[in-house]
Amino acid sequence: MLLEWIKQKSYINGQWLDAADRSVFSVHNPFNQELIGNVPNLGAVETLQAVDAAHVAFEDWSKQTASYRSNLLRKWYDLQITHADELAHLLTLEQGKPLKEAKGEILYGASFVEWFAEEAKRTYGDVIPSPSADKRIITLKQPIGIVAAITPWNFPNAMITRKVAPALAAGCTVVLKPSEETPLSALALAALAEQAGIPAGVFNVITTNQASLVGRVLSSHPLVKKLSFTGSTAVGKLLLQQCASTVKKVSLELGGNAPFIVFDDADIDLAVEGAIASKYRNAGQTCVCANRIFVQAKVHDAFVERLSDAMKQQKLGNGLEEGVTIGPLINEKAMQKVERLMADALDKGARVLIGGKRHEQFNNFYEPTVLTHATPKMSISEEEIFGPVAAIYTFQTEQEVTALANTTPYGLAAYFYSRDISRVWRVAEALEYGIIGINTGLISTPVAPFGGMKESGIGREGSKYGIEEYLEIKYLCLGI
Ligand code: ADP
Repeated sequence: MLLEWIKQKSYINGQWLDAADRSVFSVHNPFNQELIGNVPNLGAVETLQAVDAAHVAFEDWSKQTASYRSNLLRKWYDLQITHADELAHLLTLEQGKPLKEAKGEILYGASFVEWFAEEAKRTYGDVIPSPSADKRIITLKQPIGIVAAITPWNFPNAMITRKVAPALAAGCTVVLKPSEETPLSALALAALAEQAGIPAGVFNVITTNQASLVGRVLSSHPLVKKLSFTGSTAVGKLLLQQCASTVKKVSLELGGNAPFIVFDDADIDLAVEGAIASKYRNAGQTCVCANRIFVQAKVHDAFVERLSDAMKQQKLGNGLEEGVTIGPLINEKAMQKVERLMADALDKGARVLIGGKRHEQFNNFYEPTVLTHATPKMSISEEEIFGPVAAIYTFQTEQEVTALANTTPYGLAAYFYSRDISRVWRVAEALEYGIIGINTGLISTPVAPFGGMKESGIGREGSKYGIEEYLEIKYLCLGI
C-alpha cells in the first residue's frame, strides 16, 4: 500500500520526472520482500539537470530574507507532523523497523526542520575590534551554494532532514540522492516540500541505483560547493577524494565502533536499559549502536544475566504489527556480514549465551544475540556489526578500558555508566569520540552537535553548529 500523494517519480526543478530512458528500479519490503514500488533510475544526464535547476533556484533563494525561508521550513515541518503516521507507515514498509521506532524517526526528522527554521534567523556575523584606527572589520555569513546530499537507508527520513533543513535555512539549494533501498521516504519529503511552497529547484531528489555514477557527477561538478554524506567509511573516503578536484567543503558522517562501558559502580539496571536502547534499536543497524560492550569484572555476570533476560522479552516480526520490537536486517548482504563476524568470533573463543543464528521462521532476521568472552582479536571488535549482536568483553581497570575503547580508527559515539563524578569527567575527557553518552544509551537530539572524530567523519549536524556547515564566512575590511 503506497500513499496516494507519493509519486513514484524523481523530483527535479519542481517537476515529477521519469528517467530519460524510462528505466526504473524496484523497492521491496525487507520483512517479506514484497514489491512496494518502482522509481526512476536516473543517470548522469538527469543529475546534471538537477544541478542546473539548483543553480538557477539559488539565485533567488539565497537572496530571500531569513524569515521568508524560515516560514517555508516551518510549513514543511507542520506538514510532516500532520502526516507523521503515514510517513511512519511508509518508512516501516521500505525499511522494516517497528512502527513505533519509525514514528520516532519521523518526529526526530521533523524536529531538525523545526530547529533550523528557527536557526535560519540566527546566522550572525561579527564586528571585530580593528587593530588600526582607519579600518573597520566585519564578518558576514553567506550560503555556500549548491549542496549535494547522499544519505543511507538506516534512517531514510531523519538523515535527509538533518542535511536539507540546515542547507535550506542557510540559503543553499540541494540535490539529494537517497539510498536505493529507501527512496520512497525521500520522495514523500519532496512531496511535502512542494505542498509547503518551497520553490522549484530549491530541493531536488534523484532516485537511482547507480550510486557511484551519480556520486561522481555530484562530487566533481564545479557548481556543487558542498557535499554532505552519511554512510560507510569506504564510500565516504572515496567521495572525499572525488571532492578534492574542486575543493568542495565536505561533511561526512561515517561508520562507528561504539564502546559501551559498564563500570562496577554503575547502576546495572540503568546500564542494561541503555544497552538495549543503544544496541538493538533498528535491529542494531545504526552508526551509534553499542558495538563493543566492556563490563568490569565484578559486575560482569550480573550485567550479562540481566541483559539476556531483557533480550528474551524482545519480539521479532513485521514492524507494522503491534508489540514487535525488532525488525529485519535490511538485506541478505547485511545478514552475511553478521554471520561472518559471528563465525570468526566463535572460532576465536567467544561464547553464545542467547541467539547466535539466523531466525528459522523469518527471512532476513538474525536472532537477538548475547555473546560473551569477546576479545580485541576478533573481527567483531574492529568492524561495525550492524546487527542485533551484543558482544561482551570484560576488563579490570579504568585505564585499561579507556585504552581499549580508543583502540580503533573510529570516533563517533561512546557510552559509559558510572556514578563516580571524578571518573565521569576523567573518562569523558579521555574517550576520543565526538558523542559521549554518560548513564544513557540515547544521545540523539536536534539541539546537540552530532558527528565523529578520527575516521568517523568531518563536521557536525544539528545544534547551532549544524548550520555553519552550509555557510561561508566573508570578512569585510572597510577603510574609513
Ligand atoms: P551502506 O553500506 O550502509 O549501505 P553506503 O555507504 O554503501 O552504506 O551507502 C550510503 C549511501 O551512499 C547510499 O545512498 C548509497 O547509494 C550511496 N553510495 C554507495 N556507493 C556510492 C558511491 N560510490 N558514490 C556515491 N554514493 C554511493
